[in-house]
Amino acid sequence: MSTDVSNTASRSASNAAILAANYARALSVYPGQVIVDLKALRDNMRTLVARVSRDLQPGQHAPEVMGVVKADGYGHGLIPSALAALAGGATWLGTAQPYEALRLRAAGIDSSRCHILTWLTSAPTTRFADLITANIDISVGSIDSLDAVAFAARALGKPARVHVKVDTGFGRNGFTPAGFSAALERLQQYASEGVIDVIGQWSHLAVADSPDVPEFVEATDRQIQQFHEFTKRMSEAGLAPQIRHLANTAATLNRPEIRFELVRPGIGLYGYEPDPAMGDSQTYGLQPAMTLQAQLGTVKTVEEGHGISYGRTYLTPHNTSTAIVPLGYADGIMRSASGFDMQGARHIDKPGGPVRVETNKGARVLNVSGRVCMDQFIIDVKGDAAELGVREGDTVTLFGPGRGLEFAEPTADDWAKAAGTISYEIMTGIGARVPRLYRNAYEVLFSSDIAKLDEKSLI
Ligand SMILES: *Cc1c(COP(=O)(O)O)cnc(C)c1O
Repeated sequence: MSTDVSNTASRSASNAAILAANYARALSVYPGQVIVDLKALRDNMRTLVARVSRDLQPGQHAPEVMGVVKADGYGHGLIPSALAALAGGATWLGTAQPYEALRLRAAGIDSSRCHILTWLTSAPTTRFADLITANIDISVGSIDSLDAVAFAARALGKPARVHVKVDTGFGRNGFTPAGFSAALERLQQYASEGVIDVIGQWSHLAVADSPDVPEFVEATDRQIQQFHEFTKRMSEAGLAPQIRHLANTAATLNRPEIRFELVRPGIGLYGYEPDPAMGDSQTYGLQPAMTLQAQLGTVKTVEEGHGISYGRTYLTPHNTSTAIVPLGYADGIMRSASGFDMQGARHIDKPGGPVRVETNKGARVLNVSGRVCMDQFIIDVKGDAAELGVREGDTVTLFGPGRGLEFAEPTADDWAKAAGTISYEIMTGIGARVPRLYRNAYEVLFSSDIAKLDEKSLI
């Protein structure tokens, strides 16, 4: 017995040493890192699954939940995000680009484990045969793509699983009401030939994230009405969908009546609400999974009135210290998050993106000062760096879970506000050259899943 315990203890000690070495290596390779907490991802999915499983009507089944992992898992990493979502109870994964769906299957996430839907295809160029072979569900929203899918399935001798995309008012992909009769005819023809299985009917919402704007609530109501009409037309054509899905994160959280058989949250998995108008992460029991941090470059003192960065958009208001944060717009730090503080006649005061800096007087939020450059930006330390104990090499946090003002930690929403965009763009925009590191893999994932990850990325 005692040997077992000591073996386990020494194994976990050596494991901790490996993880620490991975972290140290990452810092020596690049001066900024994305750190993803796999436990937060797993728990967010659990929260979403629990939310759609409550308040069911008698006899109603809980809807299934798709983890949307497009755009490299919203910048968090495709495979780790997918595995954490599955650990949290997702039974579907979704990607816009087919190559990401294929990557999931190639990583060993096979069809006995979950369904995968992909939706951004192009009739002449998408490798439909590969998708069908890999048991990937395919969205069809045009006659051309339907023909191409059927052609590939016929050649393979294996029916394609299709989800009929309908345009209920978003104006992006999908059949419009006017074009739907022709589509139904073609769908019937291919279904009776046995080259397609009509699995799903789906659509996407335009303004579900603005429950505070009556005009947008009405627009969503109209989309829902349209969705039901499409379902009716499919049923009348003998093509009743088994699985209807319409809800993104916003509707998953706020519109219980349209969860149908499946919901498709993306941003909620990563721990954010779709729009700050809906509240924040805590409102929904979600936790941001991503931290973006960097190690300071040169720290120095400068005099009052010193121009900072291109365009002299920031002139130091006082004698102060400045520090280099070695991430720039090539890393996805948006130039629109530059900070202006121009003195005198041309005075413009616009704070730049926030950065959490530890000082010996506690943590402070400082801001991008002057224009963001390609590889770096500058922060005004607002004081004497030596006195504050701020040094070259210190790790600073651009955003993280946002552990409250006391902890002075900004979130991706704060960066979105500074840059005039949404948290989605902040997270997906982080450059590929910034290493992604993962916490809590051993707590959250099966060892067979850990084997699917780059071992050196685990910390
Ligand atoms: C991105 C996307 C989602 C997820 O949207 P969130 O707002 O991130 O929840 C769902 N469905 C489709 C079609 C999407 O493109």
